[in-house]
Amino acid sequence: MSSELITNIGQLVTNSTEFTGTQGVARLGVLADAAVLVEDGRIAWVGPSADAPSADSVTDAEGSAVLPGFVDSHSHIVFGGDRAGEFEARMSGEKYSAGGIRSTVGATRSASDEQLRARTRGFLDEMLAQGTTTVEVKSGYGLSLHDEERLVRLAAEFTSEVTFLGAHVVPAEFAGRADDYVDLVVGDMLDVCAPHSKWIDVFCETGAFTVEQSRRILEAGAARGLGVRVHASQLGPGAGVRLAVELDAASVDHCTFLTDEDVTALAGSSTVATLLPGVEFSTRQPYPDARRLLDAGVTVALASDCNPGSSFTSSMAFCIAVAVRDMGMTPAEAVWAATAGGAAALRRTDVGRIEVGARADLVQLRADSYVHLAYRPGVPLIRRTWKNGIRSSSR
Ligand SMILES: [Zn+2]
Repeated sequence: MSSELITNIGQLVTNSTEFTGTQGVARLGVLADAAVLVEDGRIAWVGPSADAPSADSVTDAEGSAVLPGFVDSHSHIVFGGDRAGEFEARMSGEKYSAGGIRSTVGATRSASDEQLRARTRGFLDEMLAQGTTTVEVKSGYGLSLHDEERLVRLAAEFTSEVTFLGAHVVPAEFAGRADDYVDLVVGDMLDVCAPHSKWIDVFCETGAFTVEQSRRILEAGAARGLGVRVHASQLGPGAGVRLAVELDAASVDHCTFLTDEDVTALAGSSTVATLLPGVEFSTRQPYPDARRLLDAGVTVALASDCNPGSSFTSSMAFCIAVAVRDMGMTPAEAVWAATAGGAAALRRTDVGRIEVGARADLVQLRADSYVHLAYRPGVPLIRRTWKNGIRSSSR
C-alpha cells in the first residue's frame, strides 16, 4: 500500500454529501485548510490539515484550491482529419448543419487503427493536462458495420464509458434509405458494437434521425443491456427530450431549444440535462438557458462535446467560463455541473466528488478559489492532476 497526503489545501471542493448542502455554493461542500489522503488510487481520508494522518509522501498544495477531476460526459474523440476549413467558412457566415458529420466519416474510415489510437491518446493527454480525469467517448464517424466496431473497440482501450453512436447521421451510401440504415444499426451493427459499449446514443434531430427511428434504436440498445443517452434539441425543438425521459436515459445532451413541457419532464425525472457550451460558441447558435433548468430543479451537467465539427475544444474550464458568462450559471453551479453533474450523467458515484472511497481523481489549481475557472478564462490554471491516485504535474 502506498499513500500520499495532499495537505495545506486552501479551498477543497468535495461535492460530498458529508460536507455539502443542496443548493448553490453549499452544494460544493467546500472545506478550508483541508487535506486529502490518497491510498492505492482511492480517497482514504478527508478533513482539516491539522488533523491529517501521516503518509508515505506529502504534497503541499500551498494554499491553493483542489477540486474533483472534471468528468467530461460527452465527447467524440475517435476520428480522422479535422474541419478547420468548415469552421472558417462558418465564421465567414455559413450556417452549421448536421450533414458536416459525413466529411469526418471519410477521413475516419481511411485512417488506420494505429492512427486513430494515437490521435485518441493525444486528446486524452490534452484533457488530463486540463484537469479532466473521466471521459465518455462515442463512436459515430464510422457508420458502417466494420468501422463502428473499430471505433467502439478502440475507445474501449481508453475508457469504460464507451457509447455506440452508429445513429449519428445517415451515411451517404444510405441516402434516401434512412430506415434501411436503422435496420443495420439495430441489427448486425449493434451485435458487433454492444460487447465494447456501455451506452447507446442517437442524434434525434431534423437532418439526422426522427423520434420514431430514435426510439427503435434506443430500445434495441436497452434490450441489449446498454444504458441510454440522447442528442436532442440542438438545432430546434423536438420530441427527443421527452423520449429520453420516457426511456429513463441517463442524460439528454444539448437541450438548446426546450419547451416548457421538456423542462417539466426533465425536472420530474432522473435524466440529466447535459449542456455543451462549446457547441453554441463554435456554431454561433444561441446558448441553452441553464438558469431555467436549474430553477426548475433539473440536474445539469457540462461537457465539452469535443468533436471536429461543432466543438473542437477539450477544455472543461472553457465550458465553465462560457456557462457562467452566457448561460446564467453561477461559478459554483458550473463547477458542480462539470464534476458531480458529469458523474450523474454517467450514473457514477465513484467520480466527481472527493470523499472516502471515491476514486482519487483530483485537480489542483494555480489559484486559491474555484471561481478563477470562470474568472480567468483561457488561462492554464491546472497545476497538478491525480487520476486513480497517480499524479501528473504541468510546468
Ligand atoms: Zn455530441
